[in-house]
Amino acid sequence: MDTSRHISVAIDGPSGAGKSTLSRVAATELGFVYVDTGAIYRTVAFHTLRRGVDPQDASAVERLLPEIRIAMEYDGEGLQRMYLNGEDLTDLIRTQEISMAASKVSVHPAVRSFLLNMQREMAEKYSVIMDGRDIGTVVLPDADVKIFLTASSEARARRRWRDLQERGTAKDFQQLLQETRERDEADMNRAAAPLRPAEDAVLLDTTELTFEESGRRILEIIRERTGA
Ligand code: C5P
Repeated sequence: MDTSRHISVAIDGPSGAGKSTLSRVAATELGFVYVDTGAIYRTVAFHTLRRGVDPQDASAVERLLPEIRIAMEYDGEGLQRMYLNGEDLTDLIRTQEISMAASKVSVHPAVRSFLLNMQREMAEKYSVIMDGRDIGTVVLPDADVKIFLTASSEARARRRWRDLQERGTAKDFQQLLQETRERDEADMNRAAAPLRPAEDAVLLDTTELTFEESGRRILEIIRERTGA
């Protein structure tokens, strides 16, 4: 392995597989920067809705891009704070409405290429664990480690249901399950950078694993391949 450059780890998979929390914990353990690329798409989605634009309208969304300046900052726990034109949106982009809109804006090739360099620059500057849908296939095709993290749609909807419950914003389980499946469908079947495992990705199914077991397995995979 070329040790003169930074290490990059790509973690892809469907929503709710535990990518973000597991990636953040692993990054803290290894001293890497955790880059949550979903949050970047969410920020674009937020701006789109705020401007009253339909996230499915490719040309209208594209016209908004020049007014979008995104910045990321990291706090002591490695939590990524998201800024849109200087405004902190970190908490505001976590709603189910923004999840669905992010899935819609991320379909447009203009949006994806607008965000590509920003993601690559992070991996040039730092050793990173970057999570998303197309990190191993498009953003960092030469990543040192690629992990495709998945779990059954029921398990993922159940985790999301628990999350929302803890935050005091309970939601109907069946509806969450349906939305999870809709997002999977949209993410896997879009033409631009669809969700799929890179050929050289390690598959990790967390349906039957606890959070701690999944975290241990991820660290093992990274350490085996990089010596980190
Ligand atoms: O990961 P998260 O659920 O926050 O992502 C929100 C949406 O952004 C996803 O449903 C997906 O459509 C899109 N996304 C993407 N490519 C990425 C990360 C997220 O298309 N690398």
